[in-house]
Amino acid sequence: MYEYRAPRREFQFILHEVLDAAGTLARLGRDDVGRDLIDSIHEEAAKFSETVLSPLNWQGDQQGVRLQEGGVVAPDGFKAAYDQFCRDGWAGMAADPAYGGQGLPAVAYIPVGEMLCGAAMAWRMASGLSEGATAALALHASEDVKARVLGQMVKGEWTGTMCLTEPQAGTDLAQLRTRAEPSADGRYRITGTKIYISWGEHDLTENIVHLVLARLPDAPAGTKGISLFMVPRRLEGADNGVSCSAVEHKMGIHGSPTCVMNFAGAEGWLVGNPGGGLACMFTMMNHARLGVGLQGLGLSERALQASVRYAFERVQGRPARGPSGRAGGDPIIAHADVRRMVMTQKALTEGQRLLAYHTYLLEDVARSSADAAERERAEEVVALLVPIVKALLTETAMETTSLAVQVHGGAGFIRDTGVEQYLRDAKITCIYEGTNGIQALDLLGRKVLMNGGATLKLLGADIAASLAGDLPAELAPWAAEIGARLAEWGELSTLVGTRAAKDPDEMGAVAVDYLQYAGYVLVGWCWVRMARVAARQLAAGGAERPYYEAKLAAARFYFEHLLPRARTFAAGVRAGAASLPALTAEQYSA
Ligand SMILES: Cc1cc2nc3c(=O)[nH]c(=O)nc-3n(C[C@H](O)[C@H](O)[C@H](O)COP(=O)(O)OP(=O)(O)OC[C@H]3O[C@@H](n4cnc5c(N)ncnc54)[C@H](O)[C@@H]3O)c2cc1C
Repeated sequence: MYEYRAPRREFQFILHEVLDAAGTLARLGRDDVGRDLIDSIHEEAAKFSETVLSPLNWQGDQQGVRLQEGGVVAPDGFKAAYDQFCRDGWAGMAADPAYGGQGLPAVAYIPVGEMLCGAAMAWRMASGLSEGATAALALHASEDVKARVLGQMVKGEWTGTMCLTEPQAGTDLAQLRTRAEPSADGRYRITGTKIYISWGEHDLTENIVHLVLARLPDAPAGTKGISLFMVPRRLEGADNGVSCSAVEHKMGIHGSPTCVMNFAGAEGWLVGNPGGGLACMFTMMNHARLGVGLQGLGLSERALQASVRYAFERVQGRPARGPSGRAGGDPIIAHADVRRMVMTQKALTEGQRLLAYHTYLLEDVARSSADAAERERAEEVVALLVPIVKALLTETAMETTSLAVQVHGGAGFIRDTGVEQYLRDAKITCIYEGTNGIQALDLLGRKVLMNGGATLKLLGADIAASLAGDLPAELAPWAAEIGARLAEWGELSTLVGTRAAKDPDEMGAVAVDYLQYAGYVLVGWCWVRMARVAARQLAAGGAERPYYEAKLAAARFYFEHLLPRARTFAAGVRAGAASLPALTAEQYSA
């Protein structure tokens, strides 16, 4: 069993040495959030994650949640950890100070989110969803609704949920049937059943604020008829007609209750405009989608740590170069194939971390820049990056956690090491908050083709600008490779756009390959940026030589072993819908 160790040096490297986050924050008027403050926040969050949360991860998985009379009981220790989280002030760290939050910029808070996910993802989902619900209410709710719930939510005294899914309405929310009847007092009565609601019911807090999508009586069919409602579980100290009738038994995240929620004429308040429910929910979904990307990243980091520890401990076989003469034999890291697996984990995890953190820093720019044009530009680029971060980091978590099992051999498949849990937990990240197939369609259709590739051009310009100038000569071929792949990205977009105008299946046939292509190219860009910092440090002859040498080694591995995957994805995009004819069920499987 491994405990999680917060990768603090990685946070410092990315935030301070690569992104200069404090410099950008100062330019945005947040010079109160300097390097020392950022580091000390991460120091405290690391202690909490390592000592309080990490030990709950496996135990929460083994014990799971219980539905009993009076509600759902979380695994042992979850409530005590949650109480400490709130007492220590983490719940409102990122929330708007207008509602009692501490207003920490996204880029400074995000390593905290990553640590919480890496330490105990199932536990983290409760507070993560709450942060999204709080943000959506702060932006869209009336002053009356805000006054009723935001103060408690920001302190963590009440948690929030996201209630979209119904048995017949998963990806296709247009099928949603939950009803909202107006009552004379200006409130609404909500009736219907929601399924798969994460932390829909639990014993961490005395109340739960549900954000529920429902239809008004005169609402048009389809997504335009969907409105958003704030529905507290308890109202003025009494039950409000909200109950949980079942918790699902599932593949992973056993510590997170996945609830069937019944709303029986529960009192609720409209949030935003009638028919504007999905637009409001998107505030929460964008937040949640990046958050799910962080779940993938946290799992990848934890899996990497487990692989490294095992690969240096487990003694087996003779290395191809011959035994080192080490007493007791050589550990498996001496085998090149084991190094390939661990290096794949390292290169993917660290490269994708920079992509995620870059996106969060841009979110701060979009929120706080004094320049309206810069805000708008950053917002557009963030919108393009969100589906990539969500889908790429979660698909990768499947690969990295599977590699961790593989590095452990049979021991990885056996429960006692705890590694198989990472793989089971990872799968849901590819499914919820919009499946990765839907993320890919969002990227290709809405974020690229719908505006004629304009946002892609903005991102391309940012990338070109970041690589221009004093790049060490040995990195020039990698920068040139990224330039070529960016040009190819534009060509692939044009090709799909042209074909999609004639064949409605074209986008669906290639979107996932397209997103993966984009992701691998962007992570290549991230590796050039990290390699530049490392090369400069090495040239300057400073301390921590092994650290920076490892960064250059990982960058090289990425360019030689992983970026070539982009060629396969590009081939998939070029092949298009022609090779995906509609077969009969018997033709697929006789
Ligand atoms: C553990 C867990 C926790 C969850 N938590 C929440 C929660 O807190 N709140 C909440 O509201 N929901 C939650 N969900 C629901 C989750 O968001 C949905 O499961 C998800 O959106 C997919 O919907 P579905 O399961 O109905 O799959 P379906 O929509 O039936 O999709 C099945 C497959 O078909 C594909 N597909 C469907 N439609 C299309 C299309 N138009 N184009 C291309 N491909 C398509 C999908 O990509 C998928 O591969 C949770 C689910 C689970 C399992």
